[in-house]
Amino acid sequence: MKQKIIFATGNKGKMKEVSRILEDLGLAVISMRDAGISMEIEENGSSYEENALLKARAVAGCAKGNCIVLADDSGLEIDYLNREPGIYSARYLGEDTSYREKNNNLIERLAGVPDEKRTARFVCAIAAVLPDGRELTTLGVIEGRIGYEEKGSGGFGYDPIFFVPEYGKTTAELTEEEKNAVSHRGRALEAMKIELRKNMMVD
Ligand code: IMP
Repeated sequence: MKQKIIFATGNKGKMKEVSRILEDLGLAVISMRDAGISMEIEENGSSYEENALLKARAVAGCAKGNCIVLADDSGLEIDYLNREPGIYSARYLGEDTSYREKNNNLIERLAGVPDEKRTARFVCAIAAVLPDGRELTTLGVIEGRIGYEEKGSGGFGYDPIFFVPEYGKTTAELTEEEKNAVSHRGRALEAMKIELRKNMMVD
């Protein structure tokens, strides 16, 4: 059976980015749902890497056939807020709270804070469980600053408030290609592609 990649996420925004970035591996990239796997995975690790591994292992336990399972864990770290929301980014103010509310809340918490103290980063860990059970992890980071209002309609989550100085735009104002070329997830996945190729799992 031809090898495929299952990406362990239910987030459509992420799935779209990931499929694009992994395209050149020449393997089918499918979501958990497409693989017929549905489960709630408790992200109770204390780092992005641990959480990504928890997800990848859980899905690998249910996956059938010759597949590589990949999972990510990511978050936004705002220096002025002691790196909040960090690994709790998805759960910040509650899973069901809209990102408009989450973003406006973070902007309010930074009221009066000058540019140079608004530094932040997106961090992403990717974990892989290979068909023979081996595990790999990679990490990617993008540095930026928190803006003063939401800008842009691309991307997802905290993108409208994450300003990238090199582009003079938020990640929600970048094209998909631009975001993938510099993003935390893009970088972590590029590093993972190198690892997968090294491990001879793909050409
Ligand atoms: P995870 O699904 O547990 O990894 O949660 C990561 C959370 O971090 C997401 O739900 C978003 O809130 C935030 N996040 C991670 N990557 C991005 C991104 O590229 N843009 C905007 N928000 C992101």
